[in-house]
Amino acid sequence: MSKLILKPGREHSLARRHPWIFSGAVAAVDGDAAAGDVVDIVSSKGEMLGHGAYSPDSQIRARILSFGDCAVLPPADLVRERVFASVARRGNFFVEGYTNGIRLVNAESDALPGVVADAYGEWVVCQLTSAFADRHKRAIADALMMAHPSCRGVSMRSDVDSRRKEGLEVGGFMNLAGEEPPELIEIFEGPCKFLVDVRAGHKTGFYLDQREARAAVGRLANNCDVLNCFSYTGGFGVFARANGANSVLQVDISADALDLARRNTELLGLCHSNTDFVKADVFKYLRSCRDEGRTFDLIVLDPPKFAEAKAHAMKAARGYKDINLLAMKLLRPGGFLATFSCSGAMTSELFDKVLMEAAADAKRDFQIVARTRQAEDHPVLVSFPEGLYLKGAILRAL
Ligand code: SAH
Repeated sequence: MSKLILKPGREHSLARRHPWIFSGAVAAVDGDAAAGDVVDIVSSKGEMLGHGAYSPDSQIRARILSFGDCAVLPPADLVRERVFASVARRGNFFVEGYTNGIRLVNAESDALPGVVADAYGEWVVCQLTSAFADRHKRAIADALMMAHPSCRGVSMRSDVDSRRKEGLEVGGFMNLAGEEPPELIEIFEGPCKFLVDVRAGHKTGFYLDQREARAAVGRLANNCDVLNCFSYTGGFGVFARANGANSVLQVDISADALDLARRNTELLGLCHSNTDFVKADVFKYLRSCRDEGRTFDLIVLDPPKFAEAKAHAMKAARGYKDINLLAMKLLRPGGFLATFSCSGAMTSELFDKVLMEAAADAKRDFQIVARTRQAEDHPVLVSFPEGLYLKGAILRAL
């Protein structure tokens, strides 16, 4: 097995069980390791620190598969064992029958670096973003076929940008095992049903990570006039309507997204959905609401990533402040703002600061009544804070 030798003093992040080794920490690679190979990770003094998956084209040069000086299973066996363990951990998350849309594997935090696998009913869709994950995609798919009850097929999306950083091909949709999934898969979540486009939808098709936040918004929605900004497939608005919202406005810049939101609303089967769909830029739409003096009881702000990297965090903060300030002004007294950031580069502290400044500029007082984060099937390894990307707060206007 090839050896990846660290520079002197660069063992500390491994000692803290952080799973990444950056290129700057590597002194040399001894042997002819290829992308996706398992390598020994060795300190500058020759101590065996663990095993890692090698990524020669990435800034993240290796991802830890196991710590310490013990034997490691052959990759196909390791992948199978970890997929089964990860799927088994989901077993005790869900009250029976609440949903059939579940993240089965959450990458580093489930000890499978670069492997994301989401189940939509009987179909599983993966995103593979490390050389190791891509190399072992068949083994991963076979394991998922066996581990996920009544699985009919496992497919993969390779359009995710981070593959480029690993030197992996960025392409389309590929079936890996079993049958091809249908164009749209219907899933259920609580009282709602959603159509999931696993080929072209965001991520693997649906924002499973916002499940708990959708439920929290639903609990506040009875009798409310709701404005759902950046609505995409309409998740928050559909949940609000299912929970007795008086009216729902779904706002998104994409006509296709609104189309899907409309179909998801129809799946509620209510004769008066009281839902309107507005194709608009949220930044402009919120200003037009302000100018027309419109107000709401519940506003949801779930924008796309404004910051890809830490370097863009300040610019992103201005964008977040702008929409939060505008939304704060549109709330009726006692109204709620459910506001989110899915940029990993936007820390919880910075997000709180943005909300504080927005409230100050809006000249209004707000209570934080709840905080939300990515749902529990998107766990975060304690030693890997990078795994936490989604944060949210529910504020009440006084
Ligand atoms: N809240 C959604 C996820 C939002 S994803 C859910 O729960 O499923 C971000 C959405 O914002 C995308 O649908 C995208 O089309 C939309 N979007 C991006 N920029 C926008 C803008 N300036 N105005 C309105 N919508 C925008």
